[in-house]
Amino acid sequence: MEKLKSKIRSEGRVLGSEVLKVDAFLNHQVDPILMADIGETFAALFADAGVTKVLTLESSGIAPALMTALGLRVPLIFAKKRKSLTLKDDLWTERSFSFTKQEESEVSVSRQFISAGDVVLVIDDFLANGQAAQAMAGIVLKAGAKVAGIGIVIEKSFQPGRQLLLDAGYRVESLARIARLSEDGIDFEE
Ligand code: 5GP
Repeated sequence: MEKLKSKIRSEGRVLGSEVLKVDAFLNHQVDPILMADIGETFAALFADAGVTKVLTLESSGIAPALMTALGLRVPLIFAKKRKSLTLKDDLWTERSFSFTKQEESEVSVSRQFISAGDVVLVIDDFLANGQAAQAMAGIVLKAGAKVAGIGIVIEKSFQPGRQLLLDAGYRVESLARIARLSEDGIDFEE
């Protein structure tokens, strides 16, 4: 998605060789026009997949996932990050190691909102090691539902997440794929 790539080039900030900061348009301040374009793009990519729900992880996935759900005319669910669980019986829960926080956490979705028969599109802002996406897909499978695919706004292709998800059999669609991050700039995959 060219518009997203040029936004990353102009407003993204590289932290070391592994982390990209996009607080100017996605992770803190949000560009609604860009989010609408992202949503339309994902909705078009998955138009024939029979999606019944979109699932993301709070909080940075919510903006692109909401616009995707709007495009597909289906509900959006955002998984919650929880440290202690008091309502275990009512939740689908998976463990996930956070790349940015470098700590393990639990992500949960109320059993009320995903059922067998649902076809769920997983959306996230970034793909690094694949832990967040894998945890969300795991929740979908625990609920007896199907994973339509995984839509990623920014994939860091030099990290192993994409391969992990492909090896697990998921369809992965990333709108911007970064081959390399350095102080000299950002290189995208061809
Ligand atoms: P993974 O679970 O694939 O290792 O990492 C994906 C999650 O970590 C995303 O939900 C995102 O919030 C966060 N993340 C991973 N890499 C980056 C990055 O370079 N920049 C930002 N802003 N978030 C990242």
